[in-house]
Formats: sequence, C-alpha cells, structure tokens
Amino acid sequence: MKYIKKKFFIENVKVRNLTKKFSTPIYCYSYKKLKKNIMIFKKNFKNLNPLICFAVKANANLKLLKEIKKFGLGADVVSLGELTKALKAGIQTKKIVFSGVGKTSEELRFAIDKKILLINAESKSEILEIERIAKSKREIVNIGIRLNPNTDAKTLKQISTGKKQDKFGLTEKYFLELVKYLKNSKFIKLKCLSVHIGSQILSNQPYEKMLKVVDRIIKKSNYKFEFIDLGGGMGISYDKKIKNLNYKKYAVAIKKVLKKHNTKIIFEPGRSIIGNTAILVSKVIYIKHGSNKNFVILDAGMNDLMRPALYGAEHQIIPENKKNVFTKKTYEFVGPICESTDRFLTAKKFQKLNEKDLVIISDVGAYGMSLSSNYNVRLKPAEILIKGYKINVIKKRQRLKDLI
Ligand SMILES: *Cc1c(COP(=O)(O)O)cnc(C)c1O
Repeated sequence: MKYIKKKFFIENVKVRNLTKKFSTPIYCYSYKKLKKNIMIFKKNFKNLNPLICFAVKANANLKLLKEIKKFGLGADVVSLGELTKALKAGIQTKKIVFSGVGKTSEELRFAIDKKILLINAESKSEILEIERIAKSKREIVNIGIRLNPNTDAKTLKQISTGKKQDKFGLTEKYFLELVKYLKNSKFIKLKCLSVHIGSQILSNQPYEKMLKVVDRIIKKSNYKFEFIDLGGGMGISYDKKIKNLNYKKYAVAIKKVLKKHNTKIIFEPGRSIIGNTAILVSKVIYIKHGSNKNFVILDAGMNDLMRPALYGAEHQIIPENKKNVFTKKTYEFVGPICESTDRFLTAKKFQKLNEKDLVIISDVGAYGMSLSSNYNVRLKPAEILIKGYKINVIKKRQRLKDLI
C-alpha cells in the first residue's frame, strides 16, 4: 500500500480504478500484507513451535479464512457460526479451539460432534453442561479452562478481558477448584489452561505479569496440562508514532517462564494477523462548515466501521490523491448515520478536500467488516482482495433485496 505518482495503490492496483468498478465504500485487502504478517508471527515464535489459531471474530470472511488456512493456521472460534465457517474454510478440526463465556448446549454439542481440539470453558456451569453432553454421548471431551489472571492489559477498557471485574475466565480460587474436580471426571479430559487478557496490547509488561500468574497457578494446581493457550491480543500500530508489540521479547518471556512446564503453546491472534491488511475506501459526500471546524461527511459510516464509535478507536485517514494544499480549519470526518458517535477522526492539518474526493481509512482489517451492521438499513460494503494485479471480489456488496 503506497502512493505511486501521488495516487494510492494496493499492491499493483490503483484504488481509484477499484472504486470506478465497485463503487464506495469498499474494503480492500492486500494478500502480500496478510502473508507477511503470518510469516513474521511464525518466525518470531518459531522456537516455541506453537499452534496458531486465527481468531475468527477479527475477520470472518470465508475466502480470507481459506487463505489463512493455507499457511497452516488453525482457528479460535466463539460461536456455532464461526465454527461452521472455519470448517467450511477447510481448517482441520484438530486445529480449532472454541472460546466464549456463553456457549449454548447446541453449540457445545456441535463442537463435541466435530471433535475439535479444545473447548475452552469459562465457568463451572459450562463444564457441568459439557459433562452432561459427553456422558449422554458416551464420549470423552477435551477441554481447557480459561483463567482470569487479574492482570491489567493496559489497553482500552472496552477491550480489556483479564481483570477480575471482567466477565471472562475463572478467578484463581474457582480455577483451582475445577482442576481438582476434573481430575476425577470420567467424561472430560482437562488438557489446557487458557488465558486472554485483552486486545491491542502494545507493552510487553502485561504479558509478562500474566505469565507469572500462569506459572504460579500451574504449580499450585499440581496438574500436568498438555497445552497452555495464551490467547491473542498482540497490538498493532494504528498510528506511525506507536510501534507494534515486541514479539521477540514476548517469545523470550514465554520460553523463560513456561519452559519448565513442558507444554504445547497455543496462540489466538486476530488483529496482529489481519488488522493492517485492509483499507476502507470512502467518498466525500459533502463538506459542511461548522463553528470552528468543517465536517467531512463520508459515504462510510459506523455501520461499515464501528471501532471508532464503539471504543473511541482512531484509524488514520489519508487522501487517495495526494496534493500539497492544506486546510486552515480542522476537519472532522463523520459518517452519514443519525448518531453523534458516527465520527471517525478529527484532523488538524489535512490536505484540502473537495466533495466527491476519495479517502482511505487505514488498518481496518480486524474488527472492521466483522463488526459491520445494517444499521439505518444500510447495505454492507463489498470486500476485495488484491494479489499483485489480481482483483478478487471476496464478498459482494449487499443489495437491498438481500435485506428486504
Ligand atoms: C478476541 C479474542 C482473541 C483475539 O484477539 P486479538 O486482539 O484480535 O488478537 C483471542 N482469543 C480470545 C479468547 C478472544 O476473545
């Protein structure tokens, strides 16, 4: 993704040409970036020989899942729908883990029938439900238990999941009680301790704290886990000033703390695999003068990209066609939806824009399309995958007749 003669390109394709053919807003992914992210991830954690399960909730596009599968990744799913998609993408059942606090009996039964690698349970009630189902099917089911390590991930509070006030996982006391209970279970084989402390984590310190807690609790449990599932959460750079999480340092810490337990490591990365692979291309509908700023009203809204409205997340916006003329007034980039939170970014010094200009909203590959909705009865955008010169429509734009 770069400018060539001041025009924005994804790989060898001029974004302007895509919009002529497919209109706006559109999600465009770069295959090269996806491949690079997976290679970097694998390389940095190579010494741990981990099972890497892509967190499908970050991006559930079937074609992308198929590409990810080709690199040998498994899947971390959180619903029957995601599990079905992972299977449809051809991901082996023995590379699928199922997370989430509220799996229904129907979902558990389906996962058990498919014999996936692990169901990562998050409560005593869920474990008892798994046991009932397993007993009725006369099967032994492999599970993990998710620990709530009570560690602050130092991320946005809306995407923190590992503190004791968060709904996720089990606190030390209950975790240890359940390990003890499961030692005598005839229908459940406890294989894994799982943790996931949050998302968009940029500092190594929360992970290091979490590892210490995991180490301590494994010792205390006096149980031989076959797997430790460390979840995902690796942060990426949404802003040039901020660096990605240091993988190397994390890998060293994992090796140091968990080596003695001699278990297999699982990761569940979502954002770090797919986040920076995509842009959302949008057209300026109107520019409206406000009291001390100008509103740039885009044809993409919070239904297309919800992260700013949902978490206050910031995605950088850049012009499609670079010029050297700048505005004096602040621009506020907003969508057309009837909500005040339907705003993307405030930019102090931006290239002067005109109505009908195109803009690029950056790094929308993770929790972009997967969080999109039909709010205001708006149609979900198309998704396009670029491989060199090749243009692949991996999801067609919704049509009104799909909805009504
Ligand atoms: C969301 C989630 C992930 C992925 O998180 P990223 O920040 O996208 O890497 C992994 N594991 C679990 C249990 C999750 O809920």
